[in-house]
Amino acid sequence: MPAREVHRCQCPACQAADPHPDRELHAQMNLLLSRVDEQQRRWYAALESHKLGHGGDTLVALATGLDVPLSPAEDLDRTRVVSMCGRRPVRLTDRLAGGGEGTVHATDRTGLVCKLYHRDRLTVGSQRKVELMVTRRVPDPMICWPTEAVFDAASVFRGFLMPRALGEPLGHGLFLPTAWTQRHPGWTRRESVGLP
Ligand SMILES: [Zn+2]
Repeated sequence: MPAREVHRCQCPACQAADPHPDRELHAQMNLLLSRVDEQQRRWYAALESHKLGHGGDTLVALATGLDVPLSPAEDLDRTRVVSMCGRRPVRLTDRLAGGGEGTVHATDRTGLVCKLYHRDRLTVGSQRKVELMVTRRVPDPMICWPTEAVFDAASVFRGFLMPRALGEPLGHGLFLPTAWTQRHPGWTRRESVGLP
């Protein structure tokens, strides 16, 4: 198997100007990861993340550049409540739609629906993508763009809030990229595949 390029750790300790004991360890982790296959990389990243406990998934993702799965414990189908950083919790009401990556629920906030990712789609990468999208605004009000990332009671990322689509029934917009691009020719394929 050809060796991969060795990833350079992006964690704060390795980025800092002063030496840190974790640096050697992170360099060894990345050397090891460059010599094993994809399946073994995922097993190892999950193991390291588990060893570190809370926040370990984010650190391992930064250190190794791998997309590390999040490990939600809470059953949102039972609690029906999500939160946004430091604000009043959002109550989930009716389940509106479901698909390959998650489910969409009505909420107690007027005009907002909540998309929850399926457990196997919850990764550090999906969280980063949504958190990045939230910081950008899209001018077209017809596009269901994330407005807030949502978390469970244990502060694990679970999905996002977005405006309920005006005029287009849910499940016929961005959930079906082909139909969407036919009706929105200005919206390119590249932008569609970049959606969470
Ligand atoms: Zn590091």
